Amino acid sequence: MGCPLYFSHPACLEHETTGGHPERRARITAIESSLTERGWLGYEVRHAPPASREMLVAVHSAEYVDAVRSMSDRGAGAFDEENIVSEGSYRAAAHASGAACAMVEALLAEGGPHVGFSATRPPGHHARTDTTSGFCLFNHVAVASRHALDSLGARRVFIFDWDVHHGDGTNDIFRTTNAVLFASIHQSGTFPGTGAITDAGSRAGEGYSINLPVQKGSYEDGWFSLLEHIVIPAAEEFQPDLVLISAGYDAHRDDEQGGCELEASSFAEMARHIRGLGERTGAPVGAVLEGGYALDALAASVCATMQALASEEPADSVAPDFLTARAASHIGFHWEL
Ligand SMILES: [Zn+2]
Repeated sequence: MGCPLYFSHPACLEHETTGGHPERRARITAIESSLTERGWLGYEVRHAPPASREMLVAVHSAEYVDAVRSMSDRGAGAFDEENIVSEGSYRAAAHASGAACAMVEALLAEGGPHVGFSATRPPGHHARTDTTSGFCLFNHVAVASRHALDSLGARRVFIFDWDVHHGDGTNDIFRTTNAVLFASIHQSGTFPGTGAITDAGSRAGEGYSINLPVQKGSYEDGWFSLLEHIVIPAAEEFQPDLVLISAGYDAHRDDEQGGCELEASSFAEMARHIRGLGERTGAPVGAVLEGGYALDALAASVCATMQALASEEPADSVAPDFLTARAASHIGFHWEL
């Protein structure tokens, strides 16, 4: 097994947002200064090439990809108030998708690493086939999953989305396929308003979308319970050959974009569970950054995730450390650990 890999590219800093927009370049610089202080946690750092137009149009419509590109080429523009395009936006988004693709190429290569993290911006999981939404231009986790399925020999990809917002773009893109199992825990009653528990996919994909909304104010115990008792057993039955995390950090208690009460250690715990799933199914695990706007919380949570993914301790042996007294009393039953 190769050493864990971290993917990004300086082009991701060139996507400019203005006027106090929460999705800003400081998100990446905050993550990378924390990682520098920690010796990159043993990860090898790689700069990723941009995704090719062919890779992007395997998920998005050619018209949409070209519209983003021409808006960037013109120097600036906006699809709407939230979804802004600057001169560097196409390059940033193409490198962000490219980073996710390069990560899955490494993860699926013979003797490749078993874990990776792709820290790029703008985020991706709200972008649909032909629309921008929620600060996202291209859907990196979807582009990488499609690349893995079409070109790298993967047959089943499991995507777990722990961003506080429903990954509506990803869910929509893979709604009718059984080659991708999509599971999302997200806060109900907030943007984008999709992801009801009854939305389980359609046609061949029926049963391959698992949507688990939680109430505003939910603590880690609720998230862990859904992950352990619903998401992990379903993913284990699915037997993925690649596991991707849509890793947003706006469910952190300090993040104003969400209303949940997770902490950095909560993301580490979820990462440990996903790593355990990867070990049991023989699937490598890659995380792709989505949201997360409170800079200190974001940096600490990314570091905690990367550390948990790369840890050499057995995945199941450390979980009880993260079960707080509050969690245990909150939920009122014993965890099966
Ligand atoms: Zn989000």
